[in-house]
Amino acid sequence: MSVPEINIPADLLPQDGRFGCGPSKVPSAAMAALAAVSSTWMGTSHRQDPVKKVVGRVRAGIGSLLSLPAGYEVILGNGGSTAFWDVATFGLIEQFSQHYVFGEFSSKFAEAAKAAPHLRDPEVVSCAPGARPALVASLADVTCLTHNETSTGVMMPVERAAGAPENQLVCVDATSGAGGLAVHATAFDCYYFAPQKSFASDGGLWLAACSPAAVERIERISASGRWIPASLDLFTALDNSRKDQTYNTPALATLFLLAQQLDWMNENGGLAFTTARCADSANRMYSWAEARSWATPFVTDPSQRSNVVATIDLDASIDANVVSAVLRANGVVDTDSYRKLGRNQLRMAMFPAIDPDDVTQLTRCIDHVVAALG
Ligand SMILES: *Cc1c(COP(=O)(O)O)cnc(C)c1O
Repeated sequence: MSVPEINIPADLLPQDGRFGCGPSKVPSAAMAALAAVSSTWMGTSHRQDPVKKVVGRVRAGIGSLLSLPAGYEVILGNGGSTAFWDVATFGLIEQFSQHYVFGEFSSKFAEAAKAAPHLRDPEVVSCAPGARPALVASLADVTCLTHNETSTGVMMPVERAAGAPENQLVCVDATSGAGGLAVHATAFDCYYFAPQKSFASDGGLWLAACSPAAVERIERISASGRWIPASLDLFTALDNSRKDQTYNTPALATLFLLAQQLDWMNENGGLAFTTARCADSANRMYSWAEARSWATPFVTDPSQRSNVVATIDLDASIDANVVSAVLRANGVVDTDSYRKLGRNQLRMAMFPAIDPDDVTQLTRCIDHVVAALG
């Protein structure tokens, strides 16, 4: 691929050029706050009060952001959302699960459940990328939703299927949706995510908001004698989280930046603030694409288009890889499509930390590059 030299004028550039879907933009103010405590925070014990207090602040901050009802608990552990699929396969699914598969991430959890020798094969409800499947009642003891399918830019509402059995847990991969999309805690039993997307921190951690029914399930499976590797044991994670700790050493910078972002979200109005900000960004992005003859939102149904991850197809006459490369050369990075989707597409995050005005500037940059490519 040859990348032509195109200079985007400074007045079109965003203040911050990071539009990646994870790791995603970390606000400079949060990095400055981290630098300010570099010798008193980094390199100190995670078993001592200062770190435990920040873990407590993170757990409470998620509780207020998601308006968790009494009895819900926030559990955390190491390994990111991918590790949580294995954690849930061991510690949350009793006999078999149901999965809504509509992209790369949702398919991976289904594969993990299928591979687990102690579980029956999962039920999979799938559809082609670019849309989401409708809910189907199932007898599975856990049903697995994905709040935002990051690979395709499709969001799905978090709901309980009509006719689902009473003991069925709703487990939601909210890795990229949490913090940017609306949700009611009564609609889920386990809402898990990682800090490197809407929470503007770094990767490596998983966090899960769990209902009393999920906690009861975790305790029951743990008591059943099922073999569970210690580092993937959800009951061990629950036990440690209650003491504001993790089973093994967490990344302290990740925790610090996560706490900063949660404070910023909650101080500015919580989920109502963050969801309105993402909706504003999304509105700017999709209305821009719809007004261009050479750009089309990949997701045809506007109600399924994600407010946190935009996927925009470009006309075949314009190479999206070249557009991304030119943007990158100008400091506007990570607009590349999800590689396995294989489309001539730009994919851009609109997480809460990203300023809606920067989304507008990004669209101006794309206009400039496309015009210059002629
Ligand atoms: C990024 C992502 C994951 C993987 O997260 P890791 O922390 O890298 O394991 C899983 N699910 C969704 C929906 C994601 O966006």
